[in-house]
Amino acid sequence: MKPNLIAGEWRDSTQATANINPSDLSDIIGEYAAAGPQEVKDAIAGARSAFPAWSTASPQVRSDILDAAGQLILARKAELGDLLAREEGKTLPEATGEVVRAAQIFKFFAGEALRQTGDVVDSVRPGVKVEVTREAVGVVAAITPWNFPIAIPAWKIAPALAFGNCAILKPAELTPGCAHALAEILVEAGVPDGVFSLVMGPGRVVGQALADSDGIDAMSFTGSVPTGAQVRDTVTARGGRVQLEMGGKNPLIILDDADLDLAVNCAVQGAFYSTGQRCTASSRLIVTPGIADRFVTALADATRALRVGDARQADTQIGPLASGEQMAKQIEYTTIGRDEGARLVCGGEALRLDRDGYYFAPTLFDDTAPAMRINREEVFGPFATIQRADDYDHALALANDTEFGLSAGICTGSLKHAEHFKRHIQAGMSMVNLPTAGVDYHVPFGGRKASSHGPREQGRLARDFYTVVKTNYQFAG
Ligand code: ADP
Repeated sequence: MKPNLIAGEWRDSTQATANINPSDLSDIIGEYAAAGPQEVKDAIAGARSAFPAWSTASPQVRSDILDAAGQLILARKAELGDLLAREEGKTLPEATGEVVRAAQIFKFFAGEALRQTGDVVDSVRPGVKVEVTREAVGVVAAITPWNFPIAIPAWKIAPALAFGNCAILKPAELTPGCAHALAEILVEAGVPDGVFSLVMGPGRVVGQALADSDGIDAMSFTGSVPTGAQVRDTVTARGGRVQLEMGGKNPLIILDDADLDLAVNCAVQGAFYSTGQRCTASSRLIVTPGIADRFVTALADATRALRVGDARQADTQIGPLASGEQMAKQIEYTTIGRDEGARLVCGGEALRLDRDGYYFAPTLFDDTAPAMRINREEVFGPFATIQRADDYDHALALANDTEFGLSAGICTGSLKHAEHFKRHIQAGMSMVNLPTAGVDYHVPFGGRKASSHGPREQGRLARDFYTVVKTNYQFAG
């Protein structure tokens, strides 16, 4: 059994979770300890006792440890990329890219640890000096999903530690392998006992115990809307700080003047790569009349040509879904789409390959209406709809007609429409002639409406969640 890391000690549990390869269900990657409430308590106690020394340590200490973690991740990138592809199901290039991103995030925050600045402000009172400084929040819990099993833990843990917090990671049950490897790396990088703990286990036990505990000052959560809402209510009710990243139903508009090849490429990448299991996936494609038929024909051809297969096979473009639950969801929404009267262009079925895995054909529905459930609810798979708009204004209105607001894109050759879109799309991230998925690691990430809650993640703005501000007044005579 791969153990949890509790307050500096590697600890087995009485329960374990099997980590299964979604490309080959006969391949058990390993058994991972499933923590209970006592381990959560011990991790919190360890973090609280480590906090005074860690939060006042020289930023050089924190910077060096984060930089070492980044180096160690890079040194193991081939092995970790393989593990990630094996446990999550994204292709090897996608998985290795994610591992490299995790390393870059650690290196970025190694720099941020040294760039903590404050303000010195002239007081309105003579002889008084005012300083605005930032301090660590305390003990931060990170609850993470399975779809980016190393990058998301990295973008929560690295800033938490950089700014002097202690951190406890609760990864998704489906993908404990990368989280466990990250814990090993942080220990090797020199993180002191208790400053970082790993508590793998079920969300309703371990995640809930973290959310409930007064020993957790702040919680950063990425996952589904219902769980996020529950976590928010629990943490805010006891006065804790909370940050949520949840779903998306991201639109990609294709205007008449778009470059057809570029638009098809953006749609294929955004909708189907990483098996569509990204909260930034382009799940709603909105087209104007002058390009609609050409676009749908070209996209259908490109979609049918995608090679679905084992995530670790060299020629695979689309890996399997991550779980049986994910597979059931795709099949259910295919039935819903048909029953709602949408036209299935391609896909919509599980694929039987030479090994037993969660393979699903990339799926496109045309002639869909905004009120259909397939246009309103997150399917989280290789599943996209096409809506036909009358013109740009109509397309923009359709794009904004959603409860979500994470990412949104437009393909156009028109500067006027691109500028208008950037200003009027209701989303946290906007993309012009780029897929809705695929973001940089050194700038803010986050959404609006039901997609997100609280300050942005990543980039320089990450400090807003992971620090508290103090305003210091001093009579200088
Ligand atoms: P998904 O449908 O993608 O699995 P979830 O929101 O269920 O999304 O899971 C995201 C993370 O939240 C996972 O780490 C999961 O274990 C955790 N989780 C699930 N239920 C709870 C809960 N009641 N409290 C806290 N965390 C939870």
